[in-house]
Amino acid sequence: MPPSLPAPADMQRALALLHAGQLVGLPTETVYGLAADGLNPFALRQIFAAKGRPVDHPLILHLGDAAWLPRFAEPDPRADALAEAFWPGPLTLVMRRLPGVPDEVTGGRETVALRVPAHPVARALLWAYGRPLAAPSANRFGRVSPTTAAHVREELPGVFVLDGGPSEVGVESTIVDLSGPVPALLRPGAVSAEAIAALIGPLGSSQTVAPGTLPGHYAPRTALRLSHSPDADAEAARAQGLTVAILRAGEPQDHARRLYAELRRLDAEGVDLLLAEPSADGALGAAINDRLTRAAYGAKEPR
Ligand code: AMP
Ligand code: MG
Repeated sequence: MPPSLPAPADMQRALALLHAGQLVGLPTETVYGLAADGLNPFALRQIFAAKGRPVDHPLILHLGDAAWLPRFAEPDPRADALAEAFWPGPLTLVMRRLPGVPDEVTGGRETVALRVPAHPVARALLWAYGRPLAAPSANRFGRVSPTTAAHVREELPGVFVLDGGPSEVGVESTIVDLSGPVPALLRPGAVSAEAIAALIGPLGSSQTVAPGTLPGHYAPRTALRLSHSPDADAEAARAQGLTVAILRAGEPQDHARRLYAELRRLDAEGVDLLLAEPSADGALGAAINDRLTRAAYGAKEPR
């Protein structure tokens, strides 16, 4: 199902809000973002306030096109090769920044994270606005990322949301760090480390933990455990008097697409324990398991 384009009046309203330094819920192919003018420090501060996000957690700058890159980052042939292959798409590049990128975006670092999203609504808005948009996931800090407009309205009431249908990919972008001599994978996503390495050479292990990729993240309110044999584990938990729901794996694309929506739905059911079956291998499988591991870390013990 192709994502629908919002009514022209909704696009106009989104543009007016961005010009006024306000926030807009933005559909992307990964998850929904909470967008603000990426060069306006006042607007950027609204993001941190709305999400309850610590101000030293850097934001990804979303660009309308790879041709915008030289305005914000130092030249790097590896970035050109990756942009050519994967943009627009779910790959974020961390690069050495140029002056003019606000500290609110970088958390005061000398590096900036950049991506060209593929969603037609995100692209249309970026082209019409003509400036980069900072857009972290449109959820309260530490919580499950939204993959529909309704999720955003639930998380952040009062924020105007452009509805672009359910997110196609369903998990956040792959992040690769190009700021040093050896590239490193900071976050797994739909673009695989192997596909990146095929273009720019082997990836080193990252010297630093990606700022903001905390162990406890993406967490539902309900206790969550990873389980390779969810039926047996569910039976054991039920024998102890707990109510249990199972989040099953499956074909990775479908699993990724429904992951956050199912976490939200099962969370709302109010069971004592969620058992999440990890994904089989592959880039999306690695991304799903990364998010589930963080969700399990952040979740409580069963009630
Ligand atoms: P999100 O919350 O999905 O928007 O992702 C933002 C993430 O991108 C941050 O939590 C960091 O992990 C990563 N990131 C953004 N900017 C930088 C940067 N300058 N250096 C390293 N990682 C960054
Ligand atoms: Mg997030």
